[in-house]
Amino acid sequence: ASSTNSEGELTPDSACTVWVHVALDVPLQGEFVYRSSVPVQPGQRVIVPFGNRRKVVGMAVALFDEPGIAPEQVKEIEQVLDDLPPMPADWLRMAAFAAGYYQRPLGEVMLPVLPASLRKISAYQGERSAGGPVARIDKRKARATPVVPPLAAPRLNVEQQAAVDYLAGLSAFQPVLLHGVTGSGKTEVYLGAMQAVLEQGLQVLLLVPEINLTPQLEQVLRARLASLQAGHELAVLHSRLAEGERLRAWLQAQRGQASVLLGTRLSIFTPMPKLGLIIIDEEHDASYKQQEGLRYSARDLAVWRARDRDIPVLLGSATPSLESWLHVQRANYHKLSLTQRATTVTLPEVQLVDTRRLRLQQGFSPQMLEAIEQRLASGQQSLVFLNRRGYAPVLSCHSCGWLSRCTRCTAYMVMHRQGGPRNELQCHHCGHRSRVPRACPDCGDQDLQPMGRGTQRVEEYLAERFPQARIARIDADSTRRKGSAEALFAQVHAGEVDILVGTQMVAKGHDFAKLGLVGVLNADAMLFAHDFRAPERLFAQLMQVAGRAGRHTQGGAVMIQTDYPEQPVYQALRRHDYDGFADYALHEREEIGLPPYAYQALLTAEARQLAHALDYLQQARDWLASQPELAQAYEAVMLYDPVPLRIVRVANVERAQLLVESVSRPVLQAFLAAWMPVLAQLGTACRVRWQLEVDPQQI
Ligand code: ADP
Ligand code: ZN
Ligand code: ZN
Repeated sequence: ASSTNSEGELTPDSACTVWVHVALDVPLQGEFVYRSSVPVQPGQRVIVPFGNRRKVVGMAVALFDEPGIAPEQVKEIEQVLDDLPPMPADWLRMAAFAAGYYQRPLGEVMLPVLPASLRKISAYQGERSAGGPVARIDKRKARATPVVPPLAAPRLNVEQQAAVDYLAGLSAFQPVLLHGVTGSGKTEVYLGAMQAVLEQGLQVLLLVPEINLTPQLEQVLRARLASLQAGHELAVLHSRLAEGERLRAWLQAQRGQASVLLGTRLSIFTPMPKLGLIIIDEEHDASYKQQEGLRYSARDLAVWRARDRDIPVLLGSATPSLESWLHVQRANYHKLSLTQRATTVTLPEVQLVDTRRLRLQQGFSPQMLEAIEQRLASGQQSLVFLNRRGYAPVLSCHSCGWLSRCTRCTAYMVMHRQGGPRNELQCHHCGHRSRVPRACPDCGDQDLQPMGRGTQRVEEYLAERFPQARIARIDADSTRRKGSAEALFAQVHAGEVDILVGTQMVAKGHDFAKLGLVGVLNADAMLFAHDFRAPERLFAQLMQVAGRAGRHTQGGAVMIQTDYPEQPVYQALRRHDYDGFADYALHEREEIGLPPYAYQALLTAEARQLAHALDYLQQARDWLASQPELAQAYEAVMLYDPVPLRIVRVANVERAQLLVESVSRPVLQAFLAAWMPVLAQLGTACRVRWQLEVDPQQI
């Protein structure tokens, strides 16, 4: 694209120059404009110079005829990467929506969600680049997919069949909430709905909350796809994959080769040209929310994407989020119910053990110990659920009252047993570790006592109490090594474990054939967390862990120890009454005007001094009041007082937050868009690190 001028020199032909808006993942706001003399399309990755001698991979998002700034300031795109077809238009739309909704620069959305090698300059301009990572993946032989014996669908029960029939009849956007009690066979409904879509040659995206859930589901999916005979391929995508595996799965989905993509939250950003259905399993699960960087909700984006593509979206849960439940009540979502367990087994009996007048032994009531003993005698497994890892949450000196505080955080150091003198104190907030002191640092007394208990201590006590039992513990500590979680779960499945002690890691998804009893310790601690969502979370978690009991044999039981058995959340659990709980909780939220009846955003500031964080937030708040016209326009936006976070100091950084709320989502969105540029320019912004989170899940 060049021509000669009157003196016969080659010059760039301005008629053939295009101006390109490129999204870059750099810590600078704003749009970046480059010029290109070769054709480039929106959705193509490009290599551009950035700053002094740096080059980065960016995404072309739009083309212009005019640069909008002085043309001589505009640099040239160095290389247009054509190893992939351009990202499709619907992908660009979703990324643009996410950037706008979550108030982040476009480049911070578009680039981090790509497999790393597609955004690394070295993959294209390094020594070993040889055509880029895509070519390398294409040349390498795919690792053989495990051969799975085909598995035909069981005969669906009436409710399952009705659900599948309804879903098979959908061809346009329609959110559907599948509310099914634990063990009701939601997976079969997913598979049935999926089959109808696959038969039309379309793709399905199946989102799951956590990676430790995928092995079982992956097997079932492979076996079922094998039985369909059409040669449907499954791709699996999650953050623990090696880079090459991740790129391969991503490419399979992007090229339409994989009919089904099974993945965790980041999979929502995978381009899928023939997407015909999105399924979100355990839609209420907090892991759909990304907690750093772009703090998106994969569940919410999935619904947006389905609307944009005009396809159905299926949200499944035994304990739907109150957001989704309200959508059902308002007829935005269609509800399908599975009210019975799919097998002949009935739901476990839930018993509340009132611990107020009981003498507990190491946290166990006599009833709970007896129940474990009975299950041991009858060859069944028991699960003891305690959402606190480590040995004891704090170490104390009885002589002087010293407590094992973290010097860097406003939190206690947790005692961890590592065997003998290697016992440690660990801060779960900043990661700081130290040896357990031999004597009290304040008074020298040698008799330091662990207070309270975590999973390690419970495991230790159970081993003492039931010496004949085989005991295993599953928590973040016992599963740190790669593959160790799978190995531990395999032991439980093989019946090599009699008593399993675990945190929330064991609550989800697993189907333990011999598990008869679930015992819950210290649930009250979760109930009285400060967050208004605590009861909702507790209900979901206990319902889920309770659902592990007695899935295959009659007579499963759940025992929940509590000092507050009259609390509505426990009473509803006892009756397996999600509807009752949801009605109660929604009513309460409506009275106080909390989500889902209001929309929130959270501005957080971090600084070396708490006063700096609070000052910054106060300035951010005062800004609105100082603009009478805006204050009126955003009358429906409420800015609360800045407050320190409950754990105010973590790793020597002080943290404070300012909650923003409105009954109108569009008004809140408009306000945030106006507020964002101001936040970066407040006089005190240089003293703090701040961030804005839309739809925060933890307050
Ligand atoms: P959920 O996800 O709803 O908790 P699952 O999908 O895990 O439940 O199903 C629970 C159990 O019931 C599984 O072992 C599954 O194989 C079995 N199951 C599901 N549907 C049927 C059916 N129609 N007939 C027999 N067994 C079924
Ligand atoms: Zn002391
Ligand atoms: Zn700490």
